[in-house]
Amino acid sequence: MADALLELMNVEVLYSNVILALKGVSLKVAPKGCVALLGANGAGKSTTLKAISGVIASDDGRVSGGSIAFAGQAIAGRETASVVRSGLVHVMEGRRVLPHMTVEQNLVIGGHMFANAARMRRALDGVYEAIPRLADLRTRTAGYLSGGEQQMLVIGRAIMAEPSLMLIDEPSLGLAPRMIEEVFAVLHRLRGNGLALLIVEQNTRVALELADYGYVMESGRIVLEGAAGELGANEDVREFYLGLD
Ligand code: ATP
Repeated sequence: MADALLELMNVEVLYSNVILALKGVSLKVAPKGCVALLGANGAGKSTTLKAISGVIASDDGRVSGGSIAFAGQAIAGRETASVVRSGLVHVMEGRRVLPHMTVEQNLVIGGHMFANAARMRRALDGVYEAIPRLADLRTRTAGYLSGGEQQMLVIGRAIMAEPSLMLIDEPSLGLAPRMIEEVFAVLHRLRGNGLALLIVEQNTRVALELADYGYVMESGRIVLEGAAGELGANEDVREFYLGLD
């Protein structure tokens, strides 16, 4: 993968100047590729995504070593807004929709950088085409949507920025199996449209079906990596790292 879209080399993260949460993480995402980041609770998966997007600063964390390159530019330590403008978005765990606003108003906020209405309309149409469920719900109040619909909304809001890479943290968390399927169908469609994805997910099976490559983390380090099919098929990996039977 000579021309990675995203490349982390030996990234270290310190929280509050004392807790070393990442101890030298290296990983790559190819243009239009999809990579799953797996591992137990507390392994450092969310921290890795936050370090990439710059959100780590609001948790009193910082990249204290190594490098992060996105589309050939060093981005470690940059402000999140500037990272978003360069084409990298981060869908965080927890589906933070603006509950009193409609679906469309939530999406418009994701497109706040557009200077004119025509540009905004084009981006909205793009989201409705990729996620038709949101078109049906456009006038609904976001706070009354189901968990799966809210997950689709935060994904839609993120792609308003027309990114080339999306980081997404635990999209299946707390969703019923049918909703997980629907959310992952959206992610498969976005992949098909050429969006690269770096996904953190406890539901290893659905993550490895979506991804082409995977990394397993433990205690702030990558302990294993490989093609998604191989990781999912390896008996030891399934048992010890991924909790599959
Ligand atoms: P989970 O699935 O539980 O979110 P994770 O693999 O995403 O797990 P992280 O949330 O990245 O793990 O946490 C990695 C380590 O960093 C943990 O030991 C955690 O306690 C610590 N950590 C996370 N956030 C902070 C913070 N704001 N301040 C201090 N330590 C933190």
